[in-house]
Amino acid sequence: MGQLKLSGVTKRFGKAEVIHPTDLVIEEGEFVVFVGPSGCGKSTMLRMIAGLEEISAGTIEIDGRVVNNLAPVERGISMVFQSYALYPHMSVYENIAFPLRVARTPQAEVETRVRRAAEVLKLQERLKHRPGALSGGQRQRVAIGRAIVREPQVFLFDEPLSNLDAALRAEMRVELSRLHGQLKNTMIYVTHDQIEAMTMADKIVVLRDGNIEQVGTPLELYHKPRNRFVAGFIGNPT
Ligand code: ADP
Ligand code: MG
Repeated sequence: MGQLKLSGVTKRFGKAEVIHPTDLVIEEGEFVVFVGPSGCGKSTMLRMIAGLEEISAGTIEIDGRVVNNLAPVERGISMVFQSYALYPHMSVYENIAFPLRVARTPQAEVETRVRRAAEVLKLQERLKHRPGALSGGQRQRVAIGRAIVREPQVFLFDEPLSNLDAALRAEMRVELSRLHGQLKNTMIYVTHDQIEAMTMADKIVVLRDGNIEQVGTPLELYHKPRNRFVAGFIGNPT
């Protein structure tokens, strides 16, 4: 579960076409990284996949089912944003449980799922704390916990580490890779950081001005960039 297929997906804001017709297949369980400069359409792509932004043309399929008209919660997708807001007056436990409360999940199930998420994210010892008592990395993990507690088939991450310092970013990169190894969900991860792309991705999608320039494994893009733009972006000077 968790195969994603985009066919002719297009986004216009008024007269401006910011995502040109795009085809892309992401296989179940893949860790795919979208890279590209600021303004190239990474967030818009994610938001369309999540159902937070209407698409202007084309179809999005999840496991062979067209989801164009499905609300975000009906798509089996969770998204983690760059700036995440935790509820300061709630415990870590309640912050993670929040999406399940909204979905009126039975109490016993909430308990099980929050404990499972906390274990994966190594937050077991922090469940009773308020967010204010946590480090930046722990707070970011709580935000991720809130996404994984719904146990979605597809996770979307929009530059989730860009507010963290370099040491924490490195640590979180390792943790996210481990998380993917454990959960085996399909993950799409947006970054403008080449190192993140090269170290985390099964497959990299390079975007430029609303077009996909190239799709490939980190090694393919490094050794056979289609053009100078891709080469430059992937960090290969040749
Ligand atoms: P990225 O995430 O790669 O930085 P975005 O997806 O945020 O890029 O933006 C892609 C393009 O779409 C940009 O030119 C941006 O200005 C434009 N854009 C994004 N959201 C809107 C909006 N709500 N209305 C108008 N233009 C938008
Ligand atoms: Mg963005």
